[in-house]
Amino acid sequence: MTIAIYPGSFDPITKGHLDILKTGAEIFDKVIIAVAHNSEKRGFLPIEDRVKLIKDSIAGMENVEVDYFAGLTIEYAKSKGAKVLLRGLRAVSDFEYELQLSQANSAMCEDIKTVFLTTKPKYNFISSSTIKEIYLNNGDISKFVPEPVYEYLMKRK
Ligand code: ADP
Repeated sequence: MTIAIYPGSFDPITKGHLDILKTGAEIFDKVIIAVAHNSEKRGFLPIEDRVKLIKDSIAGMENVEVDYFAGLTIEYAKSKGAKVLLRGLRAVSDFEYELQLSQANSAMCEDIKTVFLTTKPKYNFISSSTIKEIYLNNGDISKFVPEPVYEYLMKRK
């Protein structure tokens, strides 16, 4: 049984994240989407809300679990018996950072491999920070986020 961890900030989860997650769930036996808690960086949304929004957005995806963690992703992955870290690539600009991260993780634990996926072109440009910017400037984000995230953000205004 191959378990993959999909780690990230998910602040909030977007349709880009969901597309990566769906493909991951088709390839691997189980995917754990895990919100990384970074004590240095105050996020946009509280971590509990990010987890809840992911749970509400993945209804019907049977081999997907939601969790959160603090500390090193690789240690978290080991504790879950995972063999794969799932990451997404959007543009060449993601590549350098993601390559460095995957090599650092592989230097810490050779047995856990990073697998990169891309989204459908229509979701490729979507990032949590772009969505925050559009939302905070009263633009329409309905096309970019799952319905539960849209409803949550509209109520928050
Ligand atoms: P992090 O803070 O760890 O980068 P994010 O929540 O921003 O967390 O992203 C988690 C992962 O999902 C990263 O690998 C990121 O590149 C990927 N990702 C996010 N949005 C997209 C997208 N639209 N297409 C492809 N990959 C994406």
